Amino acid sequence: MEYKLLTPGPLTTSRRVKEVMMVDHCTWDNDYKAITQDIRQRLLTLAGVDETEYTVVLMQGSGSFGVEAVLGSEIGPQDHLLICSNGAYGQRIVQMSDRLGLNYSVYQVPDQEMPQADVVKAYLDHDPTITSIAMVHSETTSGILNDLTEIAALAKERNLLFIVDAMSSFGGVRIDVAGLDIDFLISSANKCIQGVPGFSFIIGKKAEIEQRKDFARSLSLDIYSQYKEMDKDGKWRFTSPTHTVLAFHQALIELEEEGGIDERYLRYRNNNQLLRSEMTALGYEPVIKDHQGPFITSFYYPEKEFDFDSFYNYLKEHGFVIYPGKISELACFRIGNIGEIYAEDIKKLTKVIANYKEMVVV
Ligand SMILES: *Cc1c(COP(=O)(O)O)cnc(C)c1O
Repeated sequence: MEYKLLTPGPLTTSRRVKEVMMVDHCTWDNDYKAITQDIRQRLLTLAGVDETEYTVVLMQGSGSFGVEAVLGSEIGPQDHLLICSNGAYGQRIVQMSDRLGLNYSVYQVPDQEMPQADVVKAYLDHDPTITSIAMVHSETTSGILNDLTEIAALAKERNLLFIVDAMSSFGGVRIDVAGLDIDFLISSANKCIQGVPGFSFIIGKKAEIEQRKDFARSLSLDIYSQYKEMDKDGKWRFTSPTHTVLAFHQALIELEEEGGIDERYLRYRNNNQLLRSEMTALGYEPVIKDHQGPFITSFYYPEKEFDFDSFYNYLKEHGFVIYPGKISELACFRIGNIGEIYAEDIKKLTKVIANYKEMVVV
């Protein structure tokens, strides 16, 4: 059954993105390596960073593999990582740090709130051993868009390593990577760039990668080794997800055709505003009141007896797949509005939801 994905990734991709995968590519062929290099160059441009200072490392696996590669390769034995967490993805950074045996502390924030710079400052003042800060930009758990500015400024002022999981935001909203002095930003192929799943990418400072080259705790998730190999001529260290790479390259071209990040942001934001206003009119209340991001929205169940499975199946039968909620203590579901999704799709979706509502009441 064909349906549109109203999820935070994988998401609905364009026909061309799917079509370019109909080719089998050799991994050490020059054309293929040139595609990898072009992807890395385009990502630097999208991030607005200078290639003398930053590089791009592509890493096999889903987004989490990229985050784990950064934590495992860049946090050294003398480091102390402060993790700001306001959702499941912040919590995943905690789990990874635990598994890797890192020295870390957690600033835990409720899912509906944003980490606050003054609290981070208090952590830093209280514990001068902290050397690095990690946080999520768009917390896909709730849909909140965390503000990076003030925490980034603190990290810069105190010369701390600043790591940002921008998985569900990079490419969909402008992020001033150099201005915020982000040391490592992680995102993946199947979110706002609108490619298909298979690899993550890390935009990182060359000097930090060089300086931390001996820290990697994993052979395959070693940022420095991957960087050194890839930087020679675009060859990945181990088998690369060739079809995903081709699709991603096409998706980057389409992002440029759309007008770049600012245009894509406007489309996502308009989708999101339309979704929230139509849903509110139908009686579904958004969970996030302040700092709602333009990518995904959590809605409360409209009543206690709300049957999510029946709702989900009805929407699926009518061409849309949504996401269950992820905020543990709240009964909610989520609707994403990124990917090849336009205002017509949102209008169609909310019509289907209106029909469902009528059907259930009768
Ligand atoms: C999607 C996502 C990830 C990575 O999830 P994977 O399933 O490993 O791709 C990490 N952080 C955030 C905020 C995400 O939205």
